[in-house]
Amino acid sequence: MKKMNAAVLTEYRKVEWKSVDIPSVSGNEVLIRIGYACICGSDQHVFLGEFHPRTTLPLIQGHEFAGTIVETGPEVKRYKRGDRVAVDPIIWCGHCPACKRHHYPACTTLKLVGIDLDGGFSEYMKVPETMLYRVTDNIPDEHAAMVEVLSIGFHACKRAGVKSGDSVVIWGAGKVGQSILQALKTKTQNTVIMVDILDERLAIAKKTYPDVNIINAASTNAVDNIKELTSGEGVDIAFEAVGHATDLPGVLNPVRGCIQAIRGGGTVCVLGLSSEPSPVVMKELIWKEGMIMTSRVSHGEFAETIENLNRGTLKPDALVTDILHPSKTQQAFEMLEEEPRKHLKILLKFKE
Ligand SMILES: [Zn+2]
Ligand SMILES: [Zn+2]
Repeated sequence: MKKMNAAVLTEYRKVEWKSVDIPSVSGNEVLIRIGYACICGSDQHVFLGEFHPRTTLPLIQGHEFAGTIVETGPEVKRYKRGDRVAVDPIIWCGHCPACKRHHYPACTTLKLVGIDLDGGFSEYMKVPETMLYRVTDNIPDEHAAMVEVLSIGFHACKRAGVKSGDSVVIWGAGKVGQSILQALKTKTQNTVIMVDILDERLAIAKKTYPDVNIINAASTNAVDNIKELTSGEGVDIAFEAVGHATDLPGVLNPVRGCIQAIRGGGTVCVLGLSSEPSPVVMKELIWKEGMIMTSRVSHGEFAETIENLNRGTLKPDALVTDILHPSKTQQAFEMLEEEPRKHLKILLKFKE
């Protein structure tokens, strides 16, 4: 058995860079040499043990990655050695009530590579060709690895029904919020507002898109500010991408902030994966006949994301604060936990 190195989560909070077998391919599987992989917010939850019992150890994490095909199984039809590909990490069952209605992100037993089974924090990985998207030559490897996280933004925009001319607030300027912002800027020319409590994260949004309005919810009343920026009306759509109810005194929790920020008949789309309740006053939503809905992963937006990367309409580098060797995966998780002001998206560089 040939060997490779992989970042293996051997205990919660402990990643080891160690030698493991290179998987052998069969059927419709291909073997990919990973170029880059990214660390996602869910990876941080997995690292801490918060997705247990969904995750079992030892586990090779990683669901955001791309690479080059080095070997193909006998039944592979659409790809050949040397093709550059991004991997859609979602595995749905195909027969639950959601899948029967083609609502795959809501599959009852939805699985992700890198969470429910081994993922891409390794030099090589095997995947069935049905999970692959071809990456065009003018998209660099580090951007190819970011197709998954950027597709989350396009899916959220589709779920919320963003139309050109919509005014939008994104509450939360982390990895998910910034991905929504990038997708959004390909869709609307109207007012876009970003809310967070970390100036450093708001600064990333402002530097990437100077016309974006930024609000620090810790130092100012975010809802009043949003009303001012929209002629007193409120926004058409509010995305919640925070994932926890902040306990700052006098600051609204993000979901309730979003409800108060929309116009009559507006939409709130929640993405933040909070394990805690986010208290809301339903009357505030009902009086607006507002809609509250959610967005989870992506479904088919890989194609739209790759198209936009190809056209140069996205700015993926804006999210990247660090590029590390994968033997430093343990440190990467610690950096994200200890210094959220300094680090946003960390890329692991596998290729030499
Ligand atoms: Zn992710
Ligand atoms: Zn299903």
